[in-house]
Amino acid sequence: MPFAYLCDFDGTISPEDIGAAFVRKFSAGRDDDRERLLGEWFAGGLGHRELTRRECELVTATEEEALEFGRTFRLDPHFAPFVREALGRGDSVMVVSEGFDFYVRDHLQRAGFPDLPWASNRAVFAGDRVTPEHPFADPACESCGNCKAQHVRRYRGRGFHTVIVGDGLSDRCGARAADTVLAKGDLLRWCERESMPHVPFDTFADVAEFARRQDLSAPLPRPSRTASRAGRRG
Ligand SMILES: [Mg+2]
Ligand SMILES: [Zn+2]
Repeated sequence: MPFAYLCDFDGTISPEDIGAAFVRKFSAGRDDDRERLLGEWFAGGLGHRELTRRECELVTATEEEALEFGRTFRLDPHFAPFVREALGRGDSVMVVSEGFDFYVRDHLQRAGFPDLPWASNRAVFAGDRVTPEHPFADPACESCGNCKAQHVRRYRGRGFHTVIVGDGLSDRCGARAADTVLAKGDLLRWCERESMPHVPFDTFADVAEFARRQDLSAPLPRPSRTASRAGRRG
């Protein structure tokens, strides 16, 4: 069975969270407002669509400034070799991001993957104002701008064993829907709290190693979801 790796961008493919850094950098002087929003999001009182909308209201940046800022970050150097190896093996890789299109598209192009499938929120620039759009909002999910569960379900429907690779709370819907969860950071701690089966990872060198093990004729045991958990959606 081919594997589909659905990879988070901020904090995962890019070790630093470019979206969060973008908001921080271009909402200077509004730190209290920003911290309050983040506090509400972490406490669960604010969905991610709403968080993104209200964060963008604090931002003053032109598209050129935003793009230039995004280019100051570097991707995990193990990501590109992982993608080439996975695609060469017949597996699929998709980037699923709760961040913004301008830096995801730019970084994938610059990494040599202009055709790799990806989905994110859209940042619409008008002068120095930014408005988010959510082309992948899923009516089934109240919270996410780009609910990762829908992408997982689509790959599973095409016969893939689905693996979500992520580091944050915006990966939770994808994690609930996926066959296997590779987790670090806040997602790892959430998996532990929820008793969600998962495989810890640090960089894409670990993800590549995991992927190679699945390719052996006699694979090492890998975490499998219980029937009740696999049936849960959220
Ligand atoms: Mg992330
Ligand atoms: Zn969702």
